[in-house]
Amino acid sequence: LIAASAQELTKVYGTGDTVVEALRGVTISFRAGEFTAIMGPSGSGKSTLMHCLAGLDVASGGRVQIGEVDLTGLDDKAMTTIRRDRIGFVFQAFNLVPTLTAAENITLPVDIAGREVDREWFDTVVDRLGIRDRLEHRPAELSGGQQQRVACARALVGKPSIIFGDEPTGNLDSRSSGEVLGILRAATDEFGQTVVIVTHDPRAASYADRVVFLADGQIVRELQRPSADDVF
Ligand code: ADP
Ligand code: ADP
Repeated sequence: LIAASAQELTKVYGTGDTVVEALRGVTISFRAGEFTAIMGPSGSGKSTLMHCLAGLDVASGGRVQIGEVDLTGLDDKAMTTIRRDRIGFVFQAFNLVPTLTAAENITLPVDIAGREVDREWFDTVVDRLGIRDRLEHRPAELSGGQQQRVACARALVGKPSIIFGDEPTGNLDSRSSGEVLGILRAATDEFGQTVVIVTHDPRAASYADRVVFLADGQIVRELQRPSADDVF
């Protein structure tokens, strides 16, 4: 079962003399329940690929599918529905709502979708991310690392079929990074959720099922069941 895929994806920024080819024909599939880490040098196209996959940016050419839905040509309303019902986001800009508590932020996407929160999974996520004692705090009362873990919990609690993360451990100390990677691993193992993250964190390799390397807008290497040593 394929949770998401890209076919011959291209992305061109700019016009005339200042054209940048950020993606140059990327074809990749993500199996349901698989945890993929995308690595590669700065400027290699990782964020662009992630944004196109997640429907946050539109590719210049090629196709993206989420489940059986082809994103090509979907209007904004349909795109919003796909994002709401199927996709969880753990991005650097936390986008937490400042007036809501951590707990309210975490359940917001499920509440908006009009679904029930799985309380047992909610408890598992907040305990494993070490944010239980922060649930009644608002974002301004949380450290950067805590905000990031709240954002991670928010992406996971609704059990979306696919979770996209852009440097989800980017601002975290080593212990919090392990907690975030561990809960993403648990999401795939326990619920068959699909996880795709962009990361520079070599530790991510030992949690992921595979690591895909981008360079200059193309996939140049792929490792199955890697270890951290493989990516240092
Ligand atoms: P990475 O995430 O691997 O650092 P990006 O996807 O951010 O790479 O960028 C890939 C290339 O596209 C880089 O050359 C970058 O400068 C360029 N780029 C990214 N976003 C834009 C943009 N909005 N406008 C112009 N160029 C961009
Ligand atoms: P983390 O590794 O989670 O980012 P920090 O070292 O940044 O933690 O913060 C340590 C402690 O200081 C946190 O437990 C948090 O309660 C508190 N703290 C950090 N930043 C803030 C802030 N802006 N407002 C209130 N408390 C903060």
